[in-house]
Amino acid sequence: MALAHNLGFPRIGRNRELKKAMEAFWKGELDEAGLQAVGRELRAAHWQMQKDAGIELLPVGDFAWYDQVLTHSLTFGVIPERFRPHDGQPTLDTLFAMARGVSSGCCGGAHAQEMTKWFDTNYHYLVPELSVDQQFELSWEQLFDEVEEAKALGHAVKPVVIGPLTYLWLGKTKGADFDKLDLLDRLLPLYGQIFQRLAAQGVEWVQIDEPILVLDLPLGWKSAFERAYNLLQKEPLKKLVATYFGGLEDNLGLAAGLPVDGLHIDLVRAPEQYPTILDRLPAYKVLSLGLVNGRNVWRCDLERALAVARHAHERLGARLWIAPSCSLLHSPVDLTSEDKLDAELKGWLAFALQKCQEVALLVRAVEQPDADDVVLALAESRSVQDSRAASPRIHKPAVQARLAAIKPADSQRHSVFAERIVKQRACLHLPEFPTTTIGSFPQTPAIRLARQSFKQGKLNEAAYIEAMQSEIRHAVEVQERLGLDVLVHGEAERNDMVEYFAEQIDGYAFTRFGWVQSYGSRCVKPAIIYGDLSRPKPMTVDWITYAQSLTDKVMKGMLTGPVTMLMWSFPREDVSREVQARQLALAIRDEVLDLEAAGIRIVQIDEAAFREGLPLRQAHWAHYLRWATEAFRLTASSVRDETQIHTHMCYSEFNDVIEAIAAMDADVITIETSRSDMELLEAFEKFAYPNEIGPGVYDIHSPRVPTQEEIVQLIRKAELRIPPERLWINPDCGLKTRGWPETEAALANMVAAARELRKEL
Ligand code: GLN
Ligand code: ZN
Repeated sequence: MALAHNLGFPRIGRNRELKKAMEAFWKGELDEAGLQAVGRELRAAHWQMQKDAGIELLPVGDFAWYDQVLTHSLTFGVIPERFRPHDGQPTLDTLFAMARGVSSGCCGGAHAQEMTKWFDTNYHYLVPELSVDQQFELSWEQLFDEVEEAKALGHAVKPVVIGPLTYLWLGKTKGADFDKLDLLDRLLPLYGQIFQRLAAQGVEWVQIDEPILVLDLPLGWKSAFERAYNLLQKEPLKKLVATYFGGLEDNLGLAAGLPVDGLHIDLVRAPEQYPTILDRLPAYKVLSLGLVNGRNVWRCDLERALAVARHAHERLGARLWIAPSCSLLHSPVDLTSEDKLDAELKGWLAFALQKCQEVALLVRAVEQPDADDVVLALAESRSVQDSRAASPRIHKPAVQARLAAIKPADSQRHSVFAERIVKQRACLHLPEFPTTTIGSFPQTPAIRLARQSFKQGKLNEAAYIEAMQSEIRHAVEVQERLGLDVLVHGEAERNDMVEYFAEQIDGYAFTRFGWVQSYGSRCVKPAIIYGDLSRPKPMTVDWITYAQSLTDKVMKGMLTGPVTMLMWSFPREDVSREVQARQLALAIRDEVLDLEAAGIRIVQIDEAAFREGLPLRQAHWAHYLRWATEAFRLTASSVRDETQIHTHMCYSEFNDVIEAIAAMDADVITIETSRSDMELLEAFEKFAYPNEIGPGVYDIHSPRVPTQEEIVQLIRKAELRIPPERLWINPDCGLKTRGWPETEAALANMVAAARELRKEL
């Protein structure tokens, strides 16, 4: 018999119960017993949902307070000194302190552990802090408790742990510089202890996640894999090593040969690896095929998946397992909650629960191809695929014709930067070190309330427009009073930089409950791209021209770029990301032209997600960077030389993409630099980046007001790398999470710093 299993289920709950409970606990509105009860109820409900769906081996250990990497750090006793409890064992308070920091207290507070993206997903984990003398000690019982809990409910379980190599890879060395791999020998005994404890609890299989096997690994790490798993081989329990988010490629032989009992591979991201793996897999091993996409919301093409499953079943028989491609942590929970989606669209979708049903159906289909439910499900899947292939809601000849007609010249500004900038300076009349902001101003409770009331129909359109216009008036008045050079309208009307545009672009759909955990208690509800994308009418022109009408200063139009629109949405699977980016580029290009025609002289096209689109493997980078930069240029290149294009990116790693950033050819780029003390500009300096740059001069994540002197010092540092005539002065990012008082104080110091620097020129 083949086996249906799951790698992990979303923990947040259908109605984000976990988020709500954690936030109530942090506010002191729920006690620990109450919080633990919510966790227990969610786990019980999720196991039951999976079991009812037909999953035979249920994951345990996928539940986490805040983050599963953090759970591992606690389990191993990797607790930074500043959080270590004075008296013994860590508690839930220790865990949340590591995640969120402690603002005050006897020791003057402690900053939270760093957070970063989990591979190429939008999930963020807490980076383990490893010291050269790191000791590992079993310090947290959660996994064993949860195994007990599941067994008491009568479930067959498979505990999930992050593998030793992946755990160390994700960590960060603190203090003395050393090789993280040196810690492996000290860490491995902990896995031994964990496996022994689990075996004593009656567990048969453990899933060991080693997703770094889909990355370009240094030689030392590859050999460490063999060493580590040879040592773990003697431990009890059958071991399934799980890989996902890509193909094994050069690590395929290594992964197939590890002395474990099974291997999971992602056949959604890397279907091409299937035949080779089948050939290389030792005859005793289980092969788990990830056939249902754990990263997207589309129904599985069951016939296509079944063709592979049948083939594998002939070769492997009971050694075939079937699963989603990766943990379902990255899918929304349950499609049946969606009561507002039209039936056709809803019929094309599958969330976590439905994906479990698909996995189970595939297993039934290899076992009993003629069973009624199998025949029915396959027919239904076929009709879904057919209806999508032919649907006029998806396939828009006009969009496709426009795409086909794109010429290389469409992605090229009329003149080179050196010529454009002369014309721009002549008509913009900006001083040296021009000052500006990144777009948003504080989103006050009043703004959010007005937007919400308008959405719910409680506020009529005229009243809503007036409310937003009054925010714009306020923002303009403040900026004029402070003496900023290039103004923004403040983005009061925008809930989110992607959703705002997605709602106005045809081909996007929205769910009510399609939440996915982003980090801790934070969830996002990405829009769904279901069809060819186009812009029926202008999206921002009224707001921006209204703002411009209030001032003689230059008003910057504010848009979100095509790559970011794509990265922060659930994309289509029937066309490439590249095609979707190009469609978005054309839609936003129309907006850029409309803004220009309405008299707007600077347009900023934000590409906050540009870097995160980078594929996990370097060999795939060039292709991505080519289409991503092309999509940006297609958006930005239709304007006159005099119209200045800005872009904005907020992160701190440019070295590996600097060439592509230059190829985007924005006249001005604003970036996040303040926390890196302008070191980030080194990449721009080394590359001799030719266009203008606004390195952020203060961190907007904190309410702290930077002094004039600090800002002057930072710009002086920037001047060592970038000629002053090409420098802009601005904060790191948008100000929407800040309050007005600190915003005004910080910007006043920023403007004063610019004035001081101008005197020196
Ligand atoms: N213009 C957006 C803002 O100011 C940019 C946000 C971002 O880059 N994350 O909020
Ligand atoms: Zn930003």
